[in-house]
Formats: sequence, C-alpha cells, structure tokens
Amino acid sequence: MNFIEMDDPDIWTAISAEQARQQDGLEMIASENFTSPAVMQAVGSVLTNKYAEGYPGHRYYGGCEFVDKVEEIARNRAAALFGAEHVNVQPHSGSQANSAVYLTAIQPGDTVLAFDLSHGGHLTHGMKLNSSGILYRFVHYGVRRDNHLLDFDQVAKLAREHKPKLIVAGASAYPREIQHSRFAEIAREVGAKLMVDMAHYAGLVAAGIHDNPVPVADFVTSTTHKTLRGPRGGIAMCRAENSKSLDRSVFPGTQGGPLMHVIAGKAVAFGEALRPEFKLYAMKVVDNARALASALASGGVKLVSGGTDNHLMLVDVTPLGIGGKLAEEVLDQCGITCNKNMIPYDERKPMDPSGIRLGTPALTTRGMGTDEMSSIATWILRVLKSPQSRSTIDATKREVCELAEQYPVPAAKLEAVER
Ligand SMILES: *Cc1c(COP(=O)(O)O)cnc(C)c1O
Repeated sequence: MNFIEMDDPDIWTAISAEQARQQDGLEMIASENFTSPAVMQAVGSVLTNKYAEGYPGHRYYGGCEFVDKVEEIARNRAAALFGAEHVNVQPHSGSQANSAVYLTAIQPGDTVLAFDLSHGGHLTHGMKLNSSGILYRFVHYGVRRDNHLLDFDQVAKLAREHKPKLIVAGASAYPREIQHSRFAEIAREVGAKLMVDMAHYAGLVAAGIHDNPVPVADFVTSTTHKTLRGPRGGIAMCRAENSKSLDRSVFPGTQGGPLMHVIAGKAVAFGEALRPEFKLYAMKVVDNARALASALASGGVKLVSGGTDNHLMLVDVTPLGIGGKLAEEVLDQCGITCNKNMIPYDERKPMDPSGIRLGTPALTTRGMGTDEMSSIATWILRVLKSPQSRSTIDATKREVCELAEQYPVPAAKLEAVER
C-alpha cells in the first residue's frame, strides 16, 4: 500500500515520474548515486518525528534514548571508516559541515586559501555570493595551464604571501587524486590550519583507494551522498582536542535539531561502506571512469588533465564544434544525464562553458562495468558529433533505454516490497 499515492496524488505523480526517470536513464552526474533500500527505509522512518537538539547523553529534549544509540553508532562507524578521532554526523549537508568548520577555525575577516571554483573548487570555498565569501577573505589557487594538475608551487607562493589562517583542499571537479600531505606541509610552514573537503571522493577514501586526509588535516568535511552512497547530508571530523568546539559550531552554531532519520541513514551507509563489497564497488567506479575516459579521448574530445584517476572526468567538447550547454541538452534528450562544467582557463562563460563533467558512481551502483562504459562512450560521441540529428538522438535514446532496463536501480527492490 502506498500512502502518498492515496493521500497526495499530485506529489505521487511527480515521485513516480522521477523514479521512472532514474530507472530509464543513465545517471552520469558525478555527485549523484543510488542509496540502498536500507538507507532509504532509514530516511523514511519514524525518526523524522524526533527532536534531539544536543548530542548523545546531553540533549535538550526527553525521550532520546533510542536516537542516542543511532547517533553513537553513526559516529563510531564513521570514525572507524576514516580513522578519525572525532566525528560530528549532524551537518544537514556538505555546505553546513563547511560552515561549521569555518566557525570553529577562523574569525570573520580572516584570510583563507582555497581552490578556485572555475578550476574545480566549490561554492562554499569562497564564492562571493556564498556566506564563506561574504564573511571571510578568500584567496584562490588553481591548476597548472600545461597539465591541469594542482599547482603546488602556486599554493606555497600564495600561502607565503597572504599568510592565511586556513587552507582548504578538496574539489568538486578535479579528476586526479589529491596528495593531502603536500597541503599539510604548506599549511605547517605558514602556520595555517588545514581543512580538507572530501565531499566528492569520500567513498574512494573509505574504500582505501584514495589518499585519506584524516591523518594530516585539522578538519575534514564531507557529504554522505556522493561516492559514499549514503543519504543526502554531511559530516565533519577533527582531532579530539577540537571536538568540543566543532560540536558547538554545528549545534548551536549553525543548526538546530539534527535530522535523526538522516543520521540513521548515514549509520546504515557507513555500515555498508565498512564491508569488503564496498571496496570492490569503489574499485569498479574507478575502473569504469578510466574505461569511459579512454574511450572518449580516443574519439575526438579532450579530457582535462588527459584522463582521470578517480570517479569523474571533465570533457572539453569544443573540439567537436559545440559548447557544454548544447552537449548537456542533447545528452539529456538521449536519457544521459550530466552537467555542463567550466574547464580550467575556460574562455567561455559559466552558463555555456567548454565542458561537461561525467561520473561513474551511479552507473557502477547499478552494476554496469567497462563493456557498458565503452558502449556509452560510443553513444556520447555519436550524439555530440551530430547534435542536430533527430534520428541519431532517437536511436541513442532507444539504446540507452535498453541498457537501463537490464540494470534495475536499487529503489526497484523497495517498490517491489510495497506493491
Ligand atoms: C557537493 C559538495 C559540497 C556541498 O554539499 P551539499 O550537500 O550540496 O551542501 C561541498 N564541497 C564540495 C567539494 C562538494 O563537492
């Protein structure tokens, strides 16, 4: 029985359409994934009814004995997963986790050194309309023009020149592994604290196949819904000595009551990520990204940095005579979802940049492998080379549907139970 269907047909119609969209298309947005049915059930549980301001054992509300258990399990699992001394699992999102660290580590007006948004950084790393950019003085480093790799000489030079209180590492659109210890050395030299925002690649870190920032950073933040494959949310980690101030910055510093249903979903996802199957999953995500990248590169597009060693790639589509906006639109018409993206030193505008960003976490969760990646690369190249051809788009859409049908999304299992 479905209560939404009975009580609220308008919302149910939209949810069903979204469910069909997820099942029938190929999700290649690098920041998206499919959570397990268990995670979805946790997020849809009675815990959404509970107020629990405070932390386990120290709440401002009664009746918290069971949600305390949930939050303790979530904290302990995340600590085990990343080797962290202290974890706060309450941030409602990755952005909230970052705000809480800024509130802990720096004062308004302080200088922060972070990755340029147009080279792959994030809004919360000092974009002028974001509270980070409004409250603090951000200076940005980028990637090298010749090889698109992080320019550590520039990071060191800017750090010496501007003497930031905080250095921020981590990215939303950087296709290579980040060597966090290089940031830590520079931070130590200039007396700055180091925050690593591993929102995108936390799942690869959890699996042990990407450099773990926790041992070298003062603060580590993440989302839980990207490669980590949990519910939409955030976490923030630090050493024991900063635990009280970080906790205070999350609540009451930036948030009120925690979303206990989401924290339960996080706990379930961390439990899944601790199992050996998750390591296999993460390895396949990277194998798939490599296979997709090499097939695309041999078909006439350029890849930022020449390839990838994580879950995503930035594809410069301008060699095909089109821009990122049109590329996103025609792929969408074929059922392939991705996003237009600036490439480093882009000469085009953010609303119609030179590139698209493609990721493999969601398709890998559905069980697709390198053979499917090479078919998908063929389809992508075909439509991007004939973006005006209705027949090419229609034929590709049919092939996309046939492939999608063979790989049910995890939510299909939940739906089967509900019927
Ligand atoms: C996605 C992302 C965030 C923000 O996460 P939200 O949950 O959308 O607020 C922060 N930092 C980086 C690097 C990200 O990629």
